[in-house]
Amino acid sequence: MKLVTNSLEDTVELGNRLGQTLKPGMTLLLEGDLGAGKTTLSQSIGKGLGVKRHMTSPTFSIIKSYKGKYRVHHMDCYRLEGSDEDLGFDEYFNDEDIVLVEWYTFIEDYLPSEYLHVAIRYIDETTREIEFTPVGDKYIELVGELSENTIN
Ligand code: ADP
Ligand code: MG
Repeated sequence: MKLVTNSLEDTVELGNRLGQTLKPGMTLLLEGDLGAGKTTLSQSIGKGLGVKRHMTSPTFSIIKSYKGKYRVHHMDCYRLEGSDEDLGFDEYFNDEDIVLVEWYTFIEDYLPSEYLHVAIRYIDETTREIEFTPVGDKYIELVGELSENTIN
């Protein structure tokens, strides 16, 4: 499923809806250049999951955890480029928690086999193309559910 958001508000709205649709144990792998909107989308997904605390960019801490409807782990693995350090990733990718990963290619060895891939492309200052690619049955179902509630 591919769609275009024409404003920050559109992306926030989409993230909220996605957050409300997620099931326990789901992983989202976010792809996109710096400034594409990975952190912005993650924050709004957190809102949709009922996270009250402000989710800041985890660039320097790599992993930040929050409590909403489920536990939410927000990772930014940018600083792990070229390292094969295992920060105990298995504990985060479990059957209950939600994991949102920015710069996931740097922890490729530790990722689960099923996930929702989210590619964000910068079109212009306020416009982004967002493509959802589900890997695994439950993620295919998720995208179906999301597209039912998405007018675009
Ligand atoms: P990343 O985490 O991918 O580096 P950020 O989420 O930190 O990107 O930054 C995205 C920036 O783009 C934010 O300043 C946000 O306000 C801005 N922006 C403008 N339009 C949009 C849009 N349609 N969707 C998402 N972000 C947008
Ligand atoms: Mg970011």
